[in-house]
Amino acid sequence: MGREIKRVPLDFKWPIDQLWKGYLNPYTSQECKACDRTGYNDATRKLNEDWYAFDNENYKPSPNGRRYNDNAWQYHLTQIEVVALVKNGRLKDLTHNWEPEKGWSKKEPEYIPTADEVNNWAINAPFGHDSINRFICVQARAEHQGVYGTCEFCGGEGEIWQSDEIKKLNELWESFDPPVGEGYQLWSTTTEGHPMTPVFSSAEELADYCGLNKVSVFGSSTMTKEEWLEQFQSELITHKDGNVLFI
Ligand SMILES: [Zn+2]
Repeated sequence: MGREIKRVPLDFKWPIDQLWKGYLNPYTSQECKACDRTGYNDATRKLNEDWYAFDNENYKPSPNGRRYNDNAWQYHLTQIEVVALVKNGRLKDLTHNWEPEKGWSKKEPEYIPTADEVNNWAINAPFGHDSINRFICVQARAEHQGVYGTCEFCGGEGEIWQSDEIKKLNELWESFDPPVGEGYQLWSTTTEGHPMTPVFSSAEELADYCGLNKVSVFGSSTMTKEEWLEQFQSELITHKDGNVLFI
């Protein structure tokens, strides 16, 4: 993984190791440092961080044999957050029944779990709350406390754009591939994408080059030219997609 052969024109010119210009969106923003990219005001951001309380740990064993941070308020929801979660269709483990043939079906009559039930579930469930639940609960608690709001610098986006025009151009921008041709060239896809070798007229010549120059397969590992060729040929047969062969 992380390598592909592209079929490009034999006279294709682009510097080795240089990101292909067609893969870089030139209209960019910068991260908002004021809110650490969360888009929240200070009080809401504090709630967002305290959801996990990684900087204030107090681990306790949970009945399922694992442990949880008792200072994280994700394990101490109140009915305010529970209602918000149910309203957003979350907590299906508690509000729905699951049957293999029918899938999820809502409990009749509608069931709103207690905060205790939800907190016990969060401590014991294999996965517990996900990032969507976190988002919903942070907003519910912040609104209840009357502190909810977005960052005054980025307006809640978590990033700062030079202008609305630049942001619009970013959204409208589309990447484009290098031209298609008869040549063979090895590209890295670990980055946005860049060539790793010159262009050759056959897969054999490219394999020769990769073997001789100890071209990286991943990190510092490399392959012999026979191994490269074997890889190229099997990919030529199995994974052809446009002008790209995936390795
Ligand atoms: Zn911000």
